[in-house]
Amino acid sequence: MDNNISSISAMDVYKRNIELENEIKSKTEELNKANNTMLTMSSIWEMMNSSEPLANVMDTIVNSLQDHMGYVNTLVLTKELDENGSYFIVKSHSESEIVKKFEEKDPLIKVKDYHIQYNENFILANALKERKIQSSTDIKNILHGLMSTLSYEFVQEVVRATKSQSVIVVPIYRKQHESFKADQEFGCLMVFSSRSDVTPKEMNFLTVFANQIELAVTIAALFEEVRKQAVTDPLTGLYNRRYFEENINREAERALRLGQPFSLVSLDLDHLKTINDTYGHQYGDVAIKTISDVLKQKARSIDIPARIGGEEFNVLLPGVDSCGAMMAAERIRAAIEATPLEKIGNVTASIGVATFLEHSRNVFELTELADQAMYQAKINGRNQVKLTKKTKEVNWQRIAINAFLDIISKQRVQIPEEIAGDITTRLSSVSTQDKEAKEVIYSVVDIITQSYNSTYQSGFTKSKLMLAVKLAKAMQMKNNEIDKLKIAILLYDIGNIMIPEKIFKKEDALTEEEKELIKTHPVIAARDILKPISSIQDIIPIIEKHHENWDGSGYPGKASGKDIPLASQIILLVDAYYALTQDRPYRKAFDIDKTVDIIQQGAGIKWSQELVDKFVPLVKHYDAD
Ligand code: GH3
Ligand code: MG
Repeated sequence: MDNNISSISAMDVYKRNIELENEIKSKTEELNKANNTMLTMSSIWEMMNSSEPLANVMDTIVNSLQDHMGYVNTLVLTKELDENGSYFIVKSHSESEIVKKFEEKDPLIKVKDYHIQYNENFILANALKERKIQSSTDIKNILHGLMSTLSYEFVQEVVRATKSQSVIVVPIYRKQHESFKADQEFGCLMVFSSRSDVTPKEMNFLTVFANQIELAVTIAALFEEVRKQAVTDPLTGLYNRRYFEENINREAERALRLGQPFSLVSLDLDHLKTINDTYGHQYGDVAIKTISDVLKQKARSIDIPARIGGEEFNVLLPGVDSCGAMMAAERIRAAIEATPLEKIGNVTASIGVATFLEHSRNVFELTELADQAMYQAKINGRNQVKLTKKTKEVNWQRIAINAFLDIISKQRVQIPEEIAGDITTRLSSVSTQDKEAKEVIYSVVDIITQSYNSTYQSGFTKSKLMLAVKLAKAMQMKNNEIDKLKIAILLYDIGNIMIPEKIFKKEDALTEEEKELIKTHPVIAARDILKPISSIQDIIPIIEKHHENWDGSGYPGKASGKDIPLASQIILLVDAYYALTQDRPYRKAFDIDKTVDIIQQGAGIKWSQELVDKFVPLVKHYDAD
């Protein structure tokens, strides 16, 4: 019996021990989980107390949820709205296997910032609409709804490989700090779990995390408001000087990169001292405030009206050239004049305008120019707008780059798509301050020419341009004329693109008809292609006349002698020189002596004697170097 009792109790003890062990194990797990939650929460809390941007807070949350809580994948999606309606966008995601698989599948897919079309019946929309946490085990359809560009089979494979079993979506709202305003839909926290059951405890737990995001979002909105306060001037609500300076510098970088101008309008109230003296300082303030309101009213949403000093205002007009800026400035002037002030009556302002790229490529200089123009308006009798007089030359590289970007982007000529993209990238990223800007331009012209004439050699454009410049200098052409010549050299053959390549390659002599086509057509085409580009209007006459002969026997206008621009004559001669010294499908290249001979025979006929006399020593010398 004793024996029996002791054997039963040994069994009990054994069982009890196992139970205890299991209990300890599960309690430890729970404790670990609680500990993890605490750690996660405290790191998020720390982040919230710092001024870390919202994106960091969201990234921390999604990664913590995955790492410490064992989710397969965690996302924060925000609900956005544009002119085409609502959509969701992935704002943050954990570094998960699911994301990796999607991104590996299609290199064009980036899960971050991925757009998801709004669908009323989708789990995301439902969660927000019903303001309730949602869960589902229909994981394949949900994933496919998120990444609709990928096949259903692939999504199935991802679900299997990552052992995803369920999805939980928690809606997130942006709380408004004014109590009367309703919360705004912000987006959703979405987690993919490897468990198919979702317990109420887990839902509560996720809600706590979603609340953290909600808090972060709300704080970020407050930060934004505080930041905004710091960039505006307290008296007028206009942007302050610091904000203006930051933006004008940013705008200048952009303008240089994209070749798009922006304008600066500089404004000063007339006779404010008299107003102060007559009515008192507070009425001076009223004048300043009223004028500020006019500036705000007249500004487009992208303009930056700023109070720079006491009664000095600037308006930055992105993308606007001097012509547009003069109109805007005049509207402002007229509106100020037409706005009566309490007690004071009407006030006026004097305004100066200067345009970046057109008048200067330097912010400091631009500001000075706008200021000087404003001062001119004062001297001239106040209550008027003046454009700065200075027209600083925009460098020729910039004009050329812009012209080619214009030609390509507006498809003024048919350039094969595969090279158009490459050229655009190269041209848009080059700064004319860079040493290699010229090389980029030359290579672009080489590539464009080769697209219709495969016999054209790389490096040719540069050689032609350099020879033309040497000749221009020998003819004592002025620098600004030489710059025009450089641009013309780059563009004069653009009309050839209209000619079928087989004519360029033809081995037999050309027929009369083909000769006619190759003669007049490109000149006319070049003029038509270039006509809409305003910055090169003074280049067009040079190109138009680059086949006119000195004796009037050329085309298309039979111009002669001094009626032909010198730059056109230089192009004609340099072009002939390169044609003669190159192999042609129908003849071999001439040597330098023969070439010079032929050119000399053309003196007085095709080109002036003087031009030939200056040219010959250059090429003899040129070939020697
Ligand atoms: P004008 O510009 O037409 O040549 O004459 P003005 O009387 O406006 O002369 P000026 O621009 O040289 O003087 C600026 C005056 O503006 C001096 C200053 O008393 C006044 N002022 C500057 N800031 C403020 C301000 O914030 N409030 C008020 N009430 N007056 C200001
Ligand atoms: Mg003044």
